[in-house]
Amino acid sequence: MGSSIAIDGPAGAGKSTIAKIVSKKLGFIYIDTGAMYRAMAVHMIRNGVSGDDSAEVEKNIDSADISIGHEDGEQVVFLNGENVNGQLRTEQVSAMASKTSANAKVREKLVELQRKQAKTTDVVMDGRDIGTVVLPDSQLKVYLTAGTRVRAERRYKEMIAKGENCNIDEIEADIKERDHRDMTRENSPLKKADDAVEIDSSYMTIEEVADKIISLYRETEKK
Ligand code: C5P
Repeated sequence: MGSSIAIDGPAGAGKSTIAKIVSKKLGFIYIDTGAMYRAMAVHMIRNGVSGDDSAEVEKNIDSADISIGHEDGEQVVFLNGENVNGQLRTEQVSAMASKTSANAKVREKLVELQRKQAKTTDVVMDGRDIGTVVLPDSQLKVYLTAGTRVRAERRYKEMIAKGENCNIDEIEADIKERDHRDMTRENSPLKKADDAVEIDSSYMTIEEVADKIISLYRETEKK
């Protein structure tokens, strides 16, 4: 097993941005597990599956061959051999991933892939269940949060910068709905691991959060 840092928390708390910086500074590989659930969602959408129909979802899992690679420090997700990175960040995919990630069989398949990655390399892995389920023996577990309005504002700014039409109240309502689904699902719900350090990023800069995580990791190395 390599060294690992597990970063969990709700959508929009800044996990991926921060995990990228931390992994770069430490020379670790960054593993974005949400992207794997998103790739599975792309597969379900392509096959016309309803995210609410668990039997249909389960019928379509085996035909999704999901793997990851790294190009120029960026994670690339392959779905049946095709690089689907450019298709993961749509609202349709977000909504489908939020539903299908609640399925135990979907999780089983992707957790196996995530653990395999962490076996051979040092990783910073982010998601919802990394510290609780995927890598319970991580050297450092971080539970990264931020207020819902702050997270909605961040998402709003991102969308406006991309020239997309959006409404901040709708974004906030959407975030609340997805948090609720992640936190209340039966399988691997989002929750802080008992031994995780909670960081509220609402009023911290990205650099401040990244530095804090690196210093917490350095502390674990001294033990
Ligand atoms: O983090 P991101 O928003 O890209 O994740 C997409 C979806 O995948 C989320 O809605 C969440 O429900 C799910 N997810 C999960 N477990 C993880 C990572 C993501 O259930 N480890």
